[in-house]
Amino acid sequence: MPDPVAIIDYQKCHPDRCDSGVCAAMLECPNKVLRQEAFYEFPFSHPSHFCRGCAKCVQACLFEAIRVV
Ligand code: SF4
Ligand code: SF4
Repeated sequence: MPDPVAIIDYQKCHPDRCDSGVCAAMLECPNKVLRQEAFYEFPFSHPSHFCRGCAKCVQACLFEAIRVV
């Protein structure tokens, strides 16, 4: 089975509407997969960090911008 991957839908992602421009999903990720270069920037998945497929990021995002496949 392929490793899980967190995919961000940038049509639904609104960092400017998240608390102080900080991605709530990033804060919840136990493996530091999700990153922001700076507050109010779009988050992205760090290619060298392993996603465990826990879906904490999915639950944390109020805009349903993340799915794990
Ligand atoms: S992924 Fe969700 S929690 Fe993270 S910045 Fe985008 S909308 Fe906010
Ligand atoms: S599924 Fe879990 S490990 Fe993967 S990016 Fe989301 S919070 Fe991080």
